[in-house]
Amino acid sequence: MNKKSLTKHLSLVVDLYGCPNRCRHCWLGHMPNKKMEEGADEWIFQYFEPYFENIAFYSWLREPDYCDDYRERWDRDKRLSRGIMPQRFELGSFWRMVRDAEYVRFLKDVGVHTVQLTFFGLEQYTDRYVGRKGAFHELLRTTEILLKNEIAPRWQAFINAENREEVALLLPLTEELKLSERCAAFGGEFSFFVHAGSCDGENRKLYDIRINKQDIPGTLIPYFLNYNELEAEREWCERLKDDEDSVVYHNGEDIVLNISNQYDVFFNFTHMTANWKIGNMKTDDREELIRRIVEEDTRALNLARNITVGELVKKYGDFRSDKVFSRGDYKSYLLNCYVDGK
Ligand code: SF4
Repeated sequence: MNKKSLTKHLSLVVDLYGCPNRCRHCWLGHMPNKKMEEGADEWIFQYFEPYFENIAFYSWLREPDYCDDYRERWDRDKRLSRGIMPQRFELGSFWRMVRDAEYVRFLKDVGVHTVQLTFFGLEQYTDRYVGRKGAFHELLRTTEILLKNEIAPRWQAFINAENREEVALLLPLTEELKLSERCAAFGGEFSFFVHAGSCDGENRKLYDIRINKQDIPGTLIPYFLNYNELEAEREWCERLKDDEDSVVYHNGEDIVLNISNQYDVFFNFTHMTANWKIGNMKTDDREELIRRIVEEDTRALNLARNITVGELVKKYGDFRSDKVFSRGDYKSYLLNCYVDGK
């Protein structure tokens, strides 16, 4: 491999600290929390530095700002990066927001205008699905703190067959709290949207209670993400049963690597299971690991290249199912049935 010959932008997204939550929809999959050892960030950066000109370093793969020195940490992420800078996106930690009065000031300082918050219904389902008692009330308190500091909250809700009635109750709650009007008062915009989530990681385990298209509460349809592009599984099976293409993910000009606290490396294509692993930074040969990244030579991708969508439908599709999917999410579901075993 020619050193520094790789012109693609590389983002290193590292699980340096872990996550306070255990969301039942988490597409990454649950992993034990572990604070990685001192110097791990520098070591990981140096590992890739000879090969890539442009590298953005992120110290969080899961909940952002889980470490107490998040302000210094953000500066360090920027200092470690080269050629391109890490982004804040529209993310923040509701766990930290209700425990640390300084935190909202930090979000303001780094230019965050909107923070996305995730609900699974009201108190019962949100607490259960986040995996922590009190999560729903923390989300409400975070909403208030954000508004007071002129940052717009964005509420997203994950729906399935068991929580759909509670998710439908979020809409009147947004009205009762006057979230749109209160955001408009400072020039912000409140938004609320609902979706079933992709069917990978932890959410894949909820396939049996994935919502049927006809069971989506009517009041939520205007808020359902890309509703017009969703179909029932039976419909996708009919449409895709003769499809001779394969489901193969591919990097464009940007390569994003998710790195676990065990130094396992994955593309961010779907979840972080064994067959999707590119390799381990501590135990695999570095040149070989870089080659696999550049040539996209992993077990899962090689399996994916050798089976058509039509074959996947015949093996794993349910022609009687009304469970709702987008085309992309359904193909991903089928592929992971094959790659990871059903
Ligand atoms: S979805 Fe995000 S906050 Fe929830 S467990 Fe996964 S990484 Fe943590």
